[in-house]
Order: sequence, then structure tokens, then C-alpha cells
Amino acid sequence: MFRRPSLPANFPELLTKTFESAVKSGDLIYTESTQESATDNGVDVRYTFAPALAKKPTKEDNAADEKTEKPKFNPFEKPDPKLMLVPDFGDYSLVLNKYAIVPNHFMCISKKVIPQTAPLTPNDLEHSYAALQAAQSDGTKYIGFFNCGPNSGASVDHKHIQFIQLPKGFKPFPESVIKAKGRDYKPGQQPLSSERVPYAHYIVPWEAEWAEEDAEADNDAEVPIEDPVAEELGFKFSTVLSRVLTELRVNDAPSISYNVVFTDKWLMAVPRSKESYKGISINATGTVGLLLAKSQEQLDLYKEETPLKVLTELGYVKPIEEEHPEYDY
Ligand code: AMP
Repeated sequence: MFRRPSLPANFPELLTKTFESAVKSGDLIYTESTQESATDNGVDVRYTFAPALAKKPTKEDNAADEKTEKPKFNPFEKPDPKLMLVPDFGDYSLVLNKYAIVPNHFMCISKKVIPQTAPLTPNDLEHSYAALQAAQSDGTKYIGFFNCGPNSGASVDHKHIQFIQLPKGFKPFPESVIKAKGRDYKPGQQPLSSERVPYAHYIVPWEAEWAEEDAEADNDAEVPIEDPVAEELGFKFSTVLSRVLTELRVNDAPSISYNVVFTDKWLMAVPRSKESYKGISINATGTVGLLLAKSQEQLDLYKEETPLKVLTELGYVKPIEEEHPEYDY
């Protein structure tokens, strides 16, 4: 019988307890940071200033292993038991990120060694959606994200989807796109985008939101709202992935790099042209305006050059509608 992936009802409590004890024992390195809110062209931006982050292993450290012909260390092949949240979640384990800037940063990692460059499968998406829902069951809002390819900001080549709490009061721009245009979106249509954002990005809504609203409007709160299942998530993801591949193809990109960010209401993908700009490396979280600065210089650079310009440098200029090819990829 088909069973939806499910997690213990006390998952938020398990997350907090495991996080706190791993910080206490020194198995998890938690970097305190300061936050600053801003907007750019009406898009919410949140700077996180964390100078101590420089200690975290980077892609360059892993590349150094390659140069010295040391076998590349895969921290997810045998996850640290002190960081383990749920060992058996279908084909996945849920583990804490060893280097956290926000409390309870966790990941859904494949039990098998699967390269991070493999596309997300319907099974990956369904389990990620369920993990996000479980983390949110105490009312805390999370985003999930996936960094794929050499220019995406990924550092570990083993399939992993990550989850962090959304900062209080921060509204990622896809939220307003979904509010304005999501209800009319039909699966299979061209993905949605924001007029305020100059870099290529593709947004699709999940349907659960409309079902919830419709049930409330009918005063029919007793009707159980089903979360989207694997096939629906997979189909919607395939429409954004094909747009990403088209953008990379028309720009002669030498490799496939993109970021994915999702909540329980929407998913967005952003094709990437570069990993870093003037020494600032960003991953998926940056594409929704959550910008990390590891030094005062980086923070100043964001402000001087403006976040949307930096992000456009790292992605592709959003194509004008008419320039779209007849078909995707
Ligand atoms: P990414 O950089 O997007 O590939 O994500 C990989 C994440 O794994 C990074 O955010 C690291 O902080 C985290 N990480 C690195 N080593 C470990 C480890 N031994 N255990 C858990 N998380 C780790």
C-alpha cells in the first residue's frame, strides 16, 4: 500500500534537542551572526554578517584534497551519529548541518552515495516536502534548498537537500508572485517570475495552498487537505528544470549549475553562470535575498553594487518574453 513519508510528531523538539546537545558537545559548530534587513527594488533582502564563517571547509578545501590526490572526503557517506536526527526516512537520513549559522539547520541526505549533480527525483521532492512540513509543525517557517553543479555554491558531492528557518519578518519574493499569479497557474504552463527581479528565475506553485483556501471558503474545515504527492511535485519540478536547461543551453554554459529553493507553497529554480563574484560565493539561499557576508568588505560590496546586480552577475539576465525558444531544452 502507498504510504506518504511521515516523521515523528515531535520532530521540531527532536531538532532543537539534538542541535543543542551537538553544540554543547562541540560536534556542531554554531556561528553567531548579526542580521540586517534591507530592500532592493521592492525585494526583501536580509544580510547575515558572520565573520567567523571563514573557518568552514569550502569547495576549495575539497579541491585541495583532489590536488594532493587524497581521496575526497564525503561527510555524508557515514554521517556523524551526534548529528543524526532520523536515520531511516525511506531512502534518506535527516542529519544536522555540522556548520550552522542558524539553529536547527538540517539536511535530507540520500542513504546511497548519489552525486549532487543528479537531478531531484519525485521521491527526493516528496521526502523533502514532508521533512519541511514536519519541521514547520510547531509554527516555525522553513525553506528547503538544493545547490546543484559546479557554479551553484555546493561543496559536498553527495545528494543533499537542506532546510533552514526563515528569518522572522522576511518575505522571500516568490511569495508575492504566488499570491498574485499562483491561483491561475496550470501544471505544465511556463513557470512564473517576478517583474522586480532581473535575473532568470522560474517559480511554480504547489497546489496545497489553493485547496486549503477553498476549503476555508466553503466552511468545510473538516475536509482533509492532502499534500502534493511525488508525481505532482516531480512534474512541476520538471517544468522549471527544463527552463533552467534551456537558459544554460542558449548561453552556451559549459556545465549544468542551478539552485532550487522551496517552501510548502512554491518552488523556484535559478540557473547559475558563476559560483562567485568579487570573492563573494553564494548558494541557493542568496537567490531569495538571504545574503551571507563573511567580512565587512563583502557586506559593503553588496550594498555598493546592490544585491540584485550581484545576483544577476552570478546567474543570467532574465530573457525578454519573445526571446523564449519555441520549446524548452
Ligand atoms: P553544500 O555546501 O550546499 O554542498 O552543502 C553541504 C553542507 O554540508 C555545508 O553547508 C556544510 O556546512 C555541511 N557539512 C560539511 N561537512 C559536514 C559534516 N561532516 N556533517 C554534516 N554537515 C557537514
